[in-house]
Amino acid sequence: LKKYFPVKGPLGNLGGKKGMVKAVNNVSFQLFEGETYGLVGESGCGKSTTGRTILRLIEPTEGKAMYKNKDLFQLSGKESRKMRQELQMVFQDPYSSLNPRKRIGQSLEEPLAIHQIGNKRDRTDLVMDILEKVGMRIDHYYRYPHELSGGQRQRIGLARALIVNPKIIIADEPVSALDVSIQSQVINLLQELQEEMKLTYLFIAHDISVVRHISDRIGVMYLGNLVEEARTDELVESALHPYTQALLSAVPLPNPKMKKERVVLKGELPSPLHPPSGCVFHTRCPFAMDVCKQKVPVMEARSKDHQVACHLYE
Ligand code: SF4
Ligand code: MG
Repeated sequence: LKKYFPVKGPLGNLGGKKGMVKAVNNVSFQLFEGETYGLVGESGCGKSTTGRTILRLIEPTEGKAMYKNKDLFQLSGKESRKMRQELQMVFQDPYSSLNPRKRIGQSLEEPLAIHQIGNKRDRTDLVMDILEKVGMRIDHYYRYPHELSGGQRQRIGLARALIVNPKIIIADEPVSALDVSIQSQVINLLQELQEEMKLTYLFIAHDISVVRHISDRIGVMYLGNLVEEARTDELVESALHPYTQALLSAVPLPNPKMKKERVVLKGELPSPLHPPSGCVFHTRCPFAMDVCKQKVPVMEARSKDHQVACHLYE
């Protein structure tokens, strides 16, 4: 998958020239039925853009998103509507997707109307059901978004995605705006609902300590590129990519092995307008070699279910 955004001059630091932000440059992964795939990386690495492009909230520049043997990017209007029902997105800030003037019940009925599910009475029943599923009281039906706490609003955001009975949820930083104690409640709820509703999750977050808690597998992104992918336990215990090692050693983990190998990043995240040559991580990598400036490392399997793009392992 590739997604480039054109950037226009003359304002900003482009000196009047047009540029291209390679927000997603080299991303390829599989999402298996019933699993949670965590996509992790610093803000601006392209993980949200990846999620949004899969749902065509933004149009891809190049690539495919295969689902049930069909490319989501090539679907006809009718097929596309059906697909939109099966793949739902949950956002960081559910407030923005809830109309402040509408009661919660009305907001939850909207997706049912869009996808033409049930009659008026069925819809009310479905809303009551989903409220219960996400741990809200029936009387929240009549409340307005501003009457709810952040955690409750995220439960409603989740309910809005789940009410149409989707197969895949793309959750973009679903708990990042919440207090730590509320975060774990929402994560537990996500896990319960996954089991109950047979859901598959693409879980996007910048915080690897959150991602590792919920994910079966993790993909690590840096400046638009997927740089490592592994089963969660394997990634946490034996991360290969220096960037993944740095992400992990920035979190206080009770893992003495990681402490010994503590990797500290130097410098700032480069602008995606002018990504470094070769390995995009070379400007910050403590192990960078000459080859890293010239040659783009490609993803290669190092063991079963573990791939990395780094010249150190070639
Ligand atoms: Fe570091 Fe080179 Fe590996 Fe990139 S390819 S992560 S610069 S060692
Ligand atoms: Mg984001």
